[in-house]
Parts: sequence; structure tokens; C-alpha cells
Amino acid sequence: MNLLYNSTRNTEKKVTASEAILKGLADDGGLFVPEYIPKLDVTMEELKGMSYQETAYAVMKQFLTDFTEEELKNCISHAYDSKFDTELIAPLVKVGDAYHLELFHGATIAFKDMALSILPHLLTTAAKKNHVTNEIVILTATSGDTGKAALAGFADVPGTKIIVFYPKGGVSRIQELQMVTQKGDNTSVVAIHGNFDNAQNGVKAIFEDKELERELADKGYQFSSANSINIGRLVPQVVYYVYAYAKLLENEEITSGEEINVTVPTGNFGNILAAYYAKQMGVPIAKLICASNENKVLFDFFQTGVYDRNREFILTSSPSMDILISSNLERLIYAIADEDAQKDRELMTQLKEKGVYEITPQMRARLNDFAGGFATEEECSATIRSTYEKTGYVMDPHTSVAAAVCAKYRTESKDEKKCLIASTASPYKFIHSVMTAIDQKYASADEFDLVDELSRISCTNVPKAVEEIRSAQIRHTRECDADCMKDTVKEILGI
Ligand SMILES: *Cc1c(COP(=O)(O)O)cnc(C)c1O
Repeated sequence: MNLLYNSTRNTEKKVTASEAILKGLADDGGLFVPEYIPKLDVTMEELKGMSYQETAYAVMKQFLTDFTEEELKNCISHAYDSKFDTELIAPLVKVGDAYHLELFHGATIAFKDMALSILPHLLTTAAKKNHVTNEIVILTATSGDTGKAALAGFADVPGTKIIVFYPKGGVSRIQELQMVTQKGDNTSVVAIHGNFDNAQNGVKAIFEDKELERELADKGYQFSSANSINIGRLVPQVVYYVYAYAKLLENEEITSGEEINVTVPTGNFGNILAAYYAKQMGVPIAKLICASNENKVLFDFFQTGVYDRNREFILTSSPSMDILISSNLERLIYAIADEDAQKDRELMTQLKEKGVYEITPQMRARLNDFAGGFATEEECSATIRSTYEKTGYVMDPHTSVAAAVCAKYRTESKDEKKCLIASTASPYKFIHSVMTAIDQKYASADEFDLVDELSRISCTNVPKAVEEIRSAQIRHTRECDADCMKDTVKEILGI
């Protein structure tokens, strides 16, 4: 029996997993969700000895039931290969009393690689399965990391084009350089005059534009999304939580069945939602701790039940979490509303029209699996510094927000369970913030000089992704206003 998917805003129309991946976003603007979260059909004992790739198959086959074993294994082996700098793919490192799950060993040194190295394969396989002959145009809004990871994943993949929008001035210098130097004839990168929410809303509006969809079809194109709203990104992210738990068990850090907490530095709510799905699949996770930076709209939501995006947008040193509209939260809203699509639609309309909504007391009662926390800029840099001083381990600002929140949660709640921290980026990617957190003397230094200094003080090798951009040529210089994104897309596609 196939596991089918429906929109969070309409439960009537069901599609297969491959159709959901192809479409990205449902026609009604909702997000695709599986009819139910499948259980793992292997035991933790069995998972203990498995490689990352084997774990990926065990988890993903439960969700993507219309892919054959051969198709899925093929996608997995093309994704999790030597693009990663360790065979473990996602190593666990004990830092102080927490376990860091390092998700940044892929091509672009941020956790987006975990899903975006497989999405192009899932998507092109889905296209073949559904007899799609159109060229697929991937449209992506990025707060910095998705863009490069998607570009790297889709560059020169036959039958695809990719267009990435990022907020000018809203990403780190290394992130920007990574994107604007991207090779591949099918890639385009556009800096928009606005913030990430503007970029994301612009992309959503383009997806919902029926007239443009027809114009595109006439030219043999169709859109899809590489943003974390695509179920084809969410499912591969469930894998590493299952893998991490099995490795903790294998390494005898925990005992069989022992519950752990998981802290996730959160922006668009994709990564933490994957942890929630892992819990529902059967992984013994107690609390899901949602860590925000100073854009603490999610923290306030978990405190009060009110989601209110009407506030100042703050640029922080963890830019991939500078988000006021966390798209994937809609999937949680749908779940806690007892899969009531009408309620979901109602709340999302309020969010769109007024920028605010409040969930019901019944819905709030179902948020027990979650705890919210946030860290200020000072707490974030103090955590980078003190962790370095105590352990020699250097973490990036996103991970540091999670580490700070995790520590505060422990103290305040007296909850002593072991904690897994999703470590989402290499410190090399946010080098200026990281090094000045360690010592102010680096404040005026050149970013690339700091690269060698970080390598020296942390005894780690400079990642290939950073070496490459030192000398790479800039290939993308296009810019546009946030309200001209549609015209820019048409111009790029020649329609
Ligand atoms: C994208 C990103 C996040 C936020 O993840 P979400 O799935 O959007 O919540 C956190 N840290 C880094 C480094 C990221 O790139």
C-alpha cells in the first residue's frame, strides 16, 4: 500500500510521494504531509550496525513508498558519497555534556547538504516515474545556506534549471561568494533588495501564479521547489536523527530505550520538524527544544500560543535563522489541529492578512513535545568563546544559539536527559563572527586570513568548500527589487 500525501489546506486530494516531490507546494498554497507518520520497521538493535546509507534507506522507504528499492538506493548512493569529507556522513562529537551531531560535512559545509545532495536525484527520478517531459525549473529563496547547497546539488543536472534569490546584505561574505561563484550553465543567482521573508514570499507568489504556470508550460518548463517546504527535503532529514540515536546506542553513550532531548537551531522549522517525525517513527526522543536567535517569533509562539510576525526583523550573526515566517510550522499546526485542514487554512489566512494568529487551547495542549528557547547575540558569542576555552571545540553561531539554549533549558527545567544538538554549519562558513567571538582582536581582519587562523587554533583542516572560493571567479551579478522577482524569472528563462 502506498503512503499518500495531501495538502495541509485540503485533505481530499491525495498524491503519491513522487508527485508531492515534483510539485513542491500544493496548488492551494498548502504544504504536502503524509497521511500518517510511518513507524520504523527495523529495530534499534538492527540500526546500530548500519551505515548512513543503509539507515537512509530504512527510513526513506517508509515515506517514499512509490519509489522502487532500486530507485531509492540509487538516489542514496549518488547523494551520500565522497562529496562528504567523512564516511560517517554525520559524525557525533561529544562537547562538554552535549552530543553535537555534525551535519556540515557535505559540499557546502552546512546542514542543507544533508537533504539537498539527494533532492535532485529524488526529483529527476520522480519526473521519470511520472512521465514528465518538461524541463524542471527550481526556484529557491535562501537565507544563505539553502541557496548554495541547492546550486551545488542541481548544477548541470540534465533536465533542470535553478534560480536562487538571496537577500543582498543579509548573508555572510563567504555565503555570498559561494553562491555568486557557482558554476553550471543551468544556474542563476539573484540578489534581491529586501530580506529573506521578502524573497520567500516572492517565490511563493510565483508558485501560486496560474497564468505564469501556463506561459511556462507553453515553453516546456515547470516549476518546483528546493526549499524546505518540499517533502523531498524533509524526509532525508529524518534520517540523521534515527542514525544519531543508533550511534549513541552503539557507542554505549545511552542504554536501550533511554530517552534523549534534541535541540535544534531553528529558522524555517524544517530541521526540528524532521526530529518530530523521527520521534513519531519511534525514536526515543523526549523534548524537542526549538532554539531561536533574537528573531524569537517561535519562542514567543511556544510561550503564548500566539504567532506574531509583526515585529522588527533583526540581522544577527546566525543569518540562516533570521526568519519571521517559519514555513514548515504549518505542518505542525496541521498536526496539532488534528489534521483539520480548514482550521489550518483559517490560521494561515490570518497570518497572510494580519501577520498574526492564535491557536486554540486544545492545540496548545498538543505542543507538549516541544520547548522553546532563544539566545541573544551576547549569549551566542559567549557560548562560542567559553566552549572554545574549555574544550578547544569551535562551533558556528547557529550551533552556538542551540548550545546556549540547551544549557539554559537544563538549568531552568532540571531535566537531566542527555541532549543531542543539531550542529548545522561549519565555523569556517561564519568565520568573522566566530573569530571575533573568540577574540575581539580579529574584528578588523580579512576573512580569508582568519581562515588560516581558525585552522591553527582549532586544529582542523580548512574545508575544500572554503579553499575553492578563495580564487574562484564571480559569475553571477544580477540584482532586483523584491517586487520584480517574477519579471526576473521570465527574463532568465527567456519568456
Ligand atoms: C537553514 C539553517 C538553519 C535553520 O534550519 P531550518 O530547517 O530552516 O529551521 C539553522 N542553521 C543553519 C546553519 C542553517 O543553514
